[in-house]
Amino acid sequence: MAIRSVKGMNDILPEEVGRWHLLESEFRSLAELYGFREIRTPILENTELFVRSIGDATEVVEKQMFTLERDRESFSMRPEGTAGAARAYVQHGVNAREPVSRWYYLGPMFRAERPQRGRYRQFYQAGLEVYGDAGPAGDAELIDLVVTLYKRLGISDVEVLLNSIGGPETRARYRQVLLEYLEPRSSELSEHARVRLNDNPLRILDSKDPRDKATVAGVPSVLDHLTPEDREHWDGLRRALDALGVEYKVTPGLVRGLDYYTRTLFEVTSNAGELGAQNTLGAGGRYDNMIAELGGPKVPAIGFAFGLDRILLAMGERELARAGTCFVAPMGEPALLRGLALGRELRAGGIRTEVDSRGGSLKSMLRRADSMAARICFVLGESELERGVVQMKDLAAHTQTEVPLDQAVTRAAEVLASKPEGSTT
Ligand code: ATP
Ligand code: MG
Repeated sequence: MAIRSVKGMNDILPEEVGRWHLLESEFRSLAELYGFREIRTPILENTELFVRSIGDATEVVEKQMFTLERDRESFSMRPEGTAGAARAYVQHGVNAREPVSRWYYLGPMFRAERPQRGRYRQFYQAGLEVYGDAGPAGDAELIDLVVTLYKRLGISDVEVLLNSIGGPETRARYRQVLLEYLEPRSSELSEHARVRLNDNPLRILDSKDPRDKATVAGVPSVLDHLTPEDREHWDGLRRALDALGVEYKVTPGLVRGLDYYTRTLFEVTSNAGELGAQNTLGAGGRYDNMIAELGGPKVPAIGFAFGLDRILLAMGERELARAGTCFVAPMGEPALLRGLALGRELRAGGIRTEVDSRGGSLKSMLRRADSMAARICFVLGESELERGVVQMKDLAAHTQTEVPLDQAVTRAAEVLASKPEGSTT
């Protein structure tokens, strides 16, 4: 019998890898635009790191880690990226060098799950971490970045679910409230949830068991039990999101599976493409105590992880292909000279751009723009040049607008951040 790959661990063949490159480069360029820099940490960490940061009463640590022993030491394949990044932050004393650090990472994560569509044993995450900013304005900006990436990728129907679970004091209070509500109803809970009543009742809110879901439907909201400081943070977050025009849905039942979260929690869901039941595209939150718990200084932090496999399922081929790129088609040498400068301006504005400098016909240039799946094509001829304008074609929406040359970058950024009209996903 021929040997096959491990169940839930998939090959990405050369014909599929282009999709991954596009997604990864969209993520990288946006993260860098917001001032994030890449951190690369090992796949294998001491098991203790995940036990301490994620928490031993969590599904991930309890059931899903690939752990191996060697010379009586225990190592685990990373199930997520936050713990390793936080460990590196502490180990290298980063806070002594800079008050705020913005890091991003990209790579495979490992969890022993039952494989199904959108749920694998080796899957890929791109993540963002901000250390040293207690928020809430920073939380809002991170959420804005997250939403912008999904928009740029052309994923429709994204919904931001938002909650606050407060700090340790709120949690202790709310734990009491939960117990008072759930204990008299413990016979309606699943067996697993009954165990959780003793060690981690908050986790019951995250249970996927139908019995638990029905029972927790009427629990009091954590938002009614925030301490004044946690309340102030929550209100500030909502004001900042409103100021940025970011839409969100307050979801008091959102608790997330990992123990390390404090205050802000958020999750992004979508029904786009072929996602099916695994419709959470990414998740994150604040973890103000983790750095100290890992032996570091008291530095607040917040992070988010995008599930790349699920993003690819959510994206239609066309949107994926058209994500982010600009093409400049100049006609004649004067237009070419101005076109080269336009290309430079677009790139300076963070927009991936190709300028056609071959000097061919408009038709051949448009064909080239289409084959490289550009989203926007700027057409610059003599008459445009005289009037200081350029024709901007949205190749996904099939529209053309004349825009002043000195506004081309802003207008292109607006188009790239918008969902292509008539898009099917
Ligand atoms: P779920 O409730 O779907 O199991 P989770 O709470 O375990 O998700 P996180 O640990 O918050 O997920 O991870 C962040 C994101 O990583 C998820 O929203 C999802 O997009 C992705 N992800 C998590 N586990 C897997 C997996 N096994 N396969 C593919 N993607 C995953
Ligand atoms: Mg999970």
